[in-house]
Amino acid sequence: MTLRINNLRELFSAKEIETRVCELAARINDDYRGKNMVALCVLNGAFMFFADLVRRFDMGPELDFLRLSSYGGNSLSSGRVLFSKDTELSLEGKHVLIVEDIVDTGVTMNFLLREIGSRNVKSLRIAALIDKVERRTEKLTVDYAGFTVNWGFIVGYGLDYAGRFRELPGIHVAELDVGSGS
Ligand code: 5GP
Ligand code: MG
Repeated sequence: MTLRINNLRELFSAKEIETRVCELAARINDDYRGKNMVALCVLNGAFMFFADLVRRFDMGPELDFLRLSSYGGNSLSSGRVLFSKDTELSLEGKHVLIVEDIVDTGVTMNFLLREIGSRNVKSLRIAALIDKVERRTEKLTVDYAGFTVNWGFIVGYGLDYAGRFRELPGIHVAELDVGSGS
């Protein structure tokens, strides 16, 4: 299976993303005013969204980073989820906001909610760039959703396909060629 740049269709432009990120940040600033907040970036996919979002925060957050991997499957949804890099700050008694690229089935986010939720946090919420609702199997609410998308494989603005396309400033949907060689 190959994916080429000409298989990509832009869903949301850099400008549209900027507008939406500003709206989300304004809501988050209202909700966390005066609170000790830790924003957690789920690497790698959320790095660009996280960077754009947190630079608009005015509650003086602490920032930390985590990374997940899976075994028993080649996608996070199909295997068991593990931390390949855990958080480093103490989360106890703090208002934690998980910042993720995409919530798809919800398996990954459910794991994070369970793990981070067990660390005596004061509150726990989710911001996701993309709320992909169609394949959701877990019952959870994305508190701050950038865009809702029903289907398709998304790349750009931090999201990759086999390590590529993360640098694209817009959000694109991929049309995958199957078995077409190079
Ligand atoms: P889950 O199914 O557990 O909710 O999603 C697992 C992870 O798969 C997401 O955090 C995201 O990193 C990745 N993922 C899900 N859908 C897509 C997609 O359309 N594009 C990309 N690049 N990654 C995705
Ligand atoms: Mg992810």
